[in-house]
Formats: sequence, C-alpha cells, structure tokens
Amino acid sequence: MKKYLTKDELIDVCNRINENYLPTDKVYYEKIDKVLADTKLNPNEKLMFSYIELLKVIDKEIVSIENKVDVQASCNKGCFQCCYFPTILSGLEAKLLTEYILSLTTERKINILNHLSNYYAGNQDLLENACNIDFKTDTDYKVKYLSEKLQCPLLDPEDKSCMIYEARPSSCRTYVNYCSPTVCEESMIPEEPLSFEFMHEFYFDALNDLIQTMLQNGEEIINIDYPQDSYEYGYLPLMLAINLNRTK
Ligand code: SF4
Ligand code: SF4
Repeated sequence: MKKYLTKDELIDVCNRINENYLPTDKVYYEKIDKVLADTKLNPNEKLMFSYIELLKVIDKEIVSIENKVDVQASCNKGCFQCCYFPTILSGLEAKLLTEYILSLTTERKINILNHLSNYYAGNQDLLENACNIDFKTDTDYKVKYLSEKLQCPLLDPEDKSCMIYEARPSSCRTYVNYCSPTVCEESMIPEEPLSFEFMHEFYFDALNDLIQTMLQNGEEIINIDYPQDSYEYGYLPLMLAINLNRTK
C-alpha cells in the first residue's frame, strides 16, 4: 500500500533531493540529437516524435529523482482533481497536441472528437468565464479558474482518466502529489513544497532547439508558424478548440 507523506516528511524529501540531484537538460538534448540524426523520418514526423519523446523524458527524470530519495507519487488513474487546475499551453504545444489526437487510430480519434464536440457544446458559459481570466496579469487566476469548476476537455467523463495520457502536457506531468490525494481535493490551490515545474523549461527549450535546427537545415515543417507559435500562450481548452477548428 502506498504511503502518503506528511508535509514535514515531504519537506525532508525536498531537502534530500536538493542534496542528491543537480538539474540538467542533458538528457533532453541527447534525445533531440538522436532524432535529428534519424534520416528515415520526414520533418513533421521528426517533430511529433520528439514532442512525445521529450515529454517522456520528464516522466523518466521524475521517476529517477523519486528512486533516489525513495518516494512514490500518490497519483493514480481515476484520481482527477488536478484536471480542474488551469493548464496553460503554448501555441506550438497546442498544435502538436491537436496533431497527435488527429493521428490516433480511427476508433480512438472519433471517440475523443465526439467527446470534445459534446464538451464544447455543453460547457460554453463555463469556458467563456474560465478562459477570460487573464493569467498574465491576474495573480489570482488559478483560484478563479478553479472556482469555475471546469474540467479539462481531455478528461474521460466515464472513467475519469486522461484520454491522451501518453501525450499529456508537461504541466500535467510536473504537478505530482506525494501526500494524501485529499490534499488536491480539499485545497483550492495545494501548497507545493516539491515542484518539478523547472523541467518544463528543459523540455520546451529542447523542442525549440530542434525546430530551429531543422529550419536551419532547410527542413520544411507544415502547419507550424515559428517562432510565433512558441510565444503565444493560452488555456488548454481554448487552445485546443482553436486548433481543432483550424483543421475542419
Ligand atoms: S495530483 Fe492530486 S488529484 Fe492529481 S492524480 Fe495526483 S493525487 Fe490525484
Ligand atoms: S491533459 Fe489529461 S492529465 Fe492533463 S489536465 Fe487534461 S485530462 Fe488531466
């Protein structure tokens, strides 16, 4: 059975991580170097493959840190309170996520697209309220967004799992709880003594580096406006809707 840490135990874990772990972007760049050397992939396949592989590096890095300090996340399939938190994506990630959904097997893709169509039709007011909260200027945006009780469009309404778990964005990976899951349910914005958010920068810098290298090499990437797509940010529900509409 999983052991949920108390806050003091978690602080002790943080201290041990600080003593034993030196943040590095090396593994992310090793991954893109391998992809760049792969001559079998066309530019868009290279980008999509790297996007998923770099996201997987975040998971691997977190597990490697957990193993060093002997802790296990409390997170489980079907535990979904964090899927009400605001997820902010760049235009680039939103495009890649949309492309990923469209590249799935027909049955899975149709299931997700039907669900999204119902989600957007059934949550118009909530979406308008939540997505109009300005995360760039409003320091209370997280609490305000959560108070709208808008679930992520990619949360399966049946079994409350992520419909694109293997491609979920970096913030869904870097927010990990080691205390009781009730912490996520009961606190509007749980305190985060331990955060892996710094990994987003490693992953995103490596992804940008890959695109820049590909463009310098004269490789044509379809559907990406670079660098504009890397500078635009928005809430996941809105960014996904914009990109799905573009593909219609
Ligand atoms: S972060 Fe919290 S709500 Fe999300 S899966 Fe982990 S324990 Fe559950
Ligand atoms: S993308 Fe998946 S894991 Fe992330 S908030 Fe949405 S449903 Fe949850």
